[in-house]
Amino acid sequence: MAEQARIIDGKAAAAALRAQIGQEIAAIKAATGLVPGLHVVLVGEDPASRVYVNSKEKLAAEIGMNSAVHRLPAETSEAELLAKVAALNADDSVDGILVQLPLPPQIDADRVIDAIDPAKDVDGFHLVNVGRLASGRATLIPCTPLGSMLLLKQLLPSLAGLEAVVIGRSAIVGKPMAQLLLQADCTVTIAHSRTKDLPGVVRRADLVVAAVGRPLFVKGDWIKPGATVIDVGINRLPDGRLVGDVDFAEAVAVAGAITPVPGGVGPMTIACLLRNTLTAFHARRGDGARA
Ligand code: NAD
Repeated sequence: MAEQARIIDGKAAAAALRAQIGQEIAAIKAATGLVPGLHVVLVGEDPASRVYVNSKEKLAAEIGMNSAVHRLPAETSEAELLAKVAALNADDSVDGILVQLPLPPQIDADRVIDAIDPAKDVDGFHLVNVGRLASGRATLIPCTPLGSMLLLKQLLPSLAGLEAVVIGRSAIVGKPMAQLLLQADCTVTIAHSRTKDLPGVVRRADLVVAAVGRPLFVKGDWIKPGATVIDVGINRLPDGRLVGDVDFAEAVAVAGAITPVPGGVGPMTIACLLRNTLTAFHARRGDGARA
């Protein structure tokens, strides 16, 4: 019988990261009386967004971070939301601003992201932070790719020279993930919906990152034996089960290591949001060494 892959425990890694951030917050408070502050803006009633925002608020409170959720009605205008962002930009006690996506159709999300002070952009979506990441001078890195990289670095002493295939080219996951892998000296391929012979491309990879948004899409026989598989996907099946973009039951018999869904990348995403808030706190105060 084939050996099973090592299961990468993102839940435990995220708990450890949150505990470490909590200790840093306590030390900052003892030394300065200041507490880093994360402010989330939620427009409307999207059920998934409400769940995400509630857990962000709960986990921030657990580690002693100041946090606030600004809940605005679904009919909020773009001008009203921009005014809210401007007020948070101007408030010195606010270190991190996150506007939960998606936004209602009357609001242009790009315009809102562009309005966030890049120093407080803890999602890392502002053009300044996109450019900083692309030029190797990142401060605030999008949370899901950052969390995926932290899991990989815990697992593998060096990523240098590895063949990495990222499936998906979104601005939120695929592209920043590819940038980070490139900076870690991987040989990176970005595959997407127009890629020819996707199974053949994935079979080359020592390291696969799936960010497609299609349940159980990546099959076990696409995986090179012993490869490391990071499954970013979160998909709900008609029977209510949450599954990733990778067919876990098949891939676990072939891969060397794999993240489960749930309990893999997901918990790391929120932990990295808290980490980014701490990073923003230090960077805004000119403490570059800590950022
Ligand atoms: P997206 O829809 O913006 O991008 C999907 C990408 O997949 C696109 O670039 C597209 O080219 C590619 N794609 C689509 N069909 C394909 C095909 N047949 N073959 C190859 N590539 C194909 O999605 P996203 O925002 O990047 O999210 C991807 C997944 O990750 C979703 O399941 C989402 O729910 C999940 N996600 C999870 C977290 C987390 O915290 N774990 C965070 C963000 C997104």
